[in-house]
Amino acid sequence: MNHDLSFHSARGQVTLVGAGPGDPELLTIKALKAIQAATVLMVDDLVSEPIVALANPAARVVWVGKRGGCKSTPQSFIEKLMITAAQEGERVVRLKGGDPFLFGRGGEEVEHLQAAGVRVSVLNGITAGLAAVTSLNTPLTHRDYAHGVVFVTGHAKPGDTGTDWRALANTARQAKLTLVIYMGVTGAAHIQSELLHGLGADTPVAIIQNASLPQQRHAACLLADLAETIQREGLGSPAVIVVGDVVQGLLAVTEPLMAGAGV
Ligand code: SAH
Repeated sequence: MNHDLSFHSARGQVTLVGAGPGDPELLTIKALKAIQAATVLMVDDLVSEPIVALANPAARVVWVGKRGGCKSTPQSFIEKLMITAAQEGERVVRLKGGDPFLFGRGGEEVEHLQAAGVRVSVLNGITAGLAAVTSLNTPLTHRDYAHGVVFVTGHAKPGDTGTDWRALANTARQAKLTLVIYMGVTGAAHIQSELLHGLGADTPVAIIQNASLPQQRHAACLLADLAETIQREGLGSPAVIVVGDVVQGLLAVTEPLMAGAGV
């Protein structure tokens, strides 16, 4: 048997699958087929249980997120598990919330798997920021007032200086860009005060929690009221914050909070 695991003798296969924002009906057909064909599934925290229930009942499911209050599994351990399972001939699916290549460490995993000689394929999923506004019939771009969109994280890697919010705010104003902020709820007060250096206090903002899930909620306010609104409405993770004129229409809603789905 050949135990040479160098890059040229690729062995084993892992598919990184985007599970979308939570609603199983938002999976792609390719994602569904990969989930059903998997013998081992390694599942991130934000993947909803109805999606995992689509897997073959005989498949081994490994939850690697913070579910149950435990600390999340270290990234290097997850990668080691995937490599071992792939090399043992398992059909490994790595299920990630939203899209695997947007803030999901998908890029890092592809690099490490390939370096171990494992073949990798990646299936897109609908990213949370897109699903969140779409569920409210709101676009991210609009010919009249948003020429583009920036997906940005509110949570930097430890030791990293993080996003330059002031520069981003100025660019967003000048170039008419919508900002979609992931992982921004905890740092909302800081993000708000930094963004106010480049964007007007009356810039519309929406916060959407649990997009596409039955428990979806949202609130809309002005940038100057972002942190206070999040606190008052008790909004928390997982949520995206959308900043820009595209969410203007949501400000007109009289109730501070409405269930997203079916409204
Ligand atoms: N790869 C994922 C993002 C992972 S980072 C994607 O493409 O969607 C995790 C962050 O995504 C959360 O902190 C939150 O900001 C956002 N998120 C994930 N699922 C969400 C959901 N159902 N509703 C709102 N935000 C969500």
